[in-house]
Amino acid sequence: MAATDLDQIVNLCKRRGFVYPSAEIYGGFRSSYDYGPLGSLMLRNVREAWIRTMVQERDDVVLIDAAILAPPQVFEASGHLANFSDPLVDCTKCKQRFREDHLDDPNTCPGCGATGSFTEARAFNLMFKTYAGPVEGSGAEVYMRPETAQGMFVNFLNVLQTSRKKPPFGIAQVGKSFRNEITPGNFIFRTREFEQMECEFFVPPAESAKWYQYWCQARLQWYVDLGIPAEMLQLRAHDADELSHYSAGTSDIEFRYPWGWGELEGVAQRTDYDLGQHADHSGQKLDYFDQNSGMRYVPYVIEPAAGVNRAMAAFLLAAYDEDEVGGEARTILRLHPRLAPYKVAVLPLSKKETLTPLAHDIRRTLAARYMVDYDDTQSIGRRYRRQDEVGTPLCVTVDFDSLDDGAVTIRDRDTTEQVRVPIDSLLAEVGTRLGF
Ligand code: ATP
Repeated sequence: MAATDLDQIVNLCKRRGFVYPSAEIYGGFRSSYDYGPLGSLMLRNVREAWIRTMVQERDDVVLIDAAILAPPQVFEASGHLANFSDPLVDCTKCKQRFREDHLDDPNTCPGCGATGSFTEARAFNLMFKTYAGPVEGSGAEVYMRPETAQGMFVNFLNVLQTSRKKPPFGIAQVGKSFRNEITPGNFIFRTREFEQMECEFFVPPAESAKWYQYWCQARLQWYVDLGIPAEMLQLRAHDADELSHYSAGTSDIEFRYPWGWGELEGVAQRTDYDLGQHADHSGQKLDYFDQNSGMRYVPYVIEPAAGVNRAMAAFLLAAYDEDEVGGEARTILRLHPRLAPYKVAVLPLSKKETLTPLAHDIRRTLAARYMVDYDDTQSIGRRYRRQDEVGTPLCVTVDFDSLDDGAVTIRDRDTTEQVRVPIDSLLAEVGTRLGF
């Protein structure tokens, strides 16, 4: 059973230190969030799981980390200055603003219920503009990137020359992006500051349809492999009127959120649009010379573009469960071990001096390889519940017998089954159970 109500996750995240409203002591800063001790670990795990699949386990994708601030030329070339806008309408009665394409009924204001009260739609550019250097004004404007993708295109030649890759190959990046969203909301699903995981995969033009299919399937599978049930995911091809200005075909990987199906990741066929635009605007040749065929061509691009925060929301929603153990209700996050903030919790049965050194020894051994929590407060039952609620796959209990028999108890989050294991083989046992 997954979460049926977003509030189940919002409350858990607040209560257990995953996600806090930003600037909360000043009343909060709408649609911004800070990630607490557990949330920051989970975000890192989402990023690392993506890099692992997209870069580490392949030989045809390299990673970069480009700047967030960029000069206007980049976004003139990419089309963002002219086209990266949403249609905005104002309600003349209640003065609220909405995205026209998000309205259920284009004639009725969802704020105050008035009909026929909207202004004409106008294009609102979503990029954040700021100034570099001591002088504000024209010539000093810079933009905060609204997607990480342009960093890959403007570095295409650098990477081609330094990495010795040739198409088909990809450049991947994980990092923050900024969009002045008109209607942020649904918790961390849509915020103005967020993190993306994008790959620009450069291919010979004739192979672009094949690679598009490949990436649609590969990216869908990534979520399934990390524990999202297949029936909570679907691939939806965009209609012609939905396509971005650069796209020859886009599919969204959609997730069944509590409010309905919505985008989790987009996979787009960007053709040679981006490299072509940057070549025109910069005057640099952004193409590839294939020595085998003697042909020079501008590669086509397939782009799988995901959100770190949005993926985290989906993983949390899908992992949420409630069940009963020993007649007592428990909340549990059935997170994939790679995504769980802590992999193991070390729980000494007592705070007594006799037990603490051994418990800390065990914590240190495990912590050399895994993110470990250590908790010696409250009853053991309550400590298990706390770990279940944050998704910790394994608990290791150190008791007074451990001092004599050199063994500890491992408890499994999902089955609650407990097994006695010699301390000498604990690390190996944990590795087998986690799968890494
Ligand atoms: P949407 O239609 O939901 O606004 P989009 O089609 O504009 O998304 P893309 O430009 O395709 O989004 O960005 C790729 C991915 O980046 C999205 O699938 C999502 O996971 C993430 N993303 C985009 N905008 C936001 C945002 N404002 N907050 C959080 N994540 C975002």
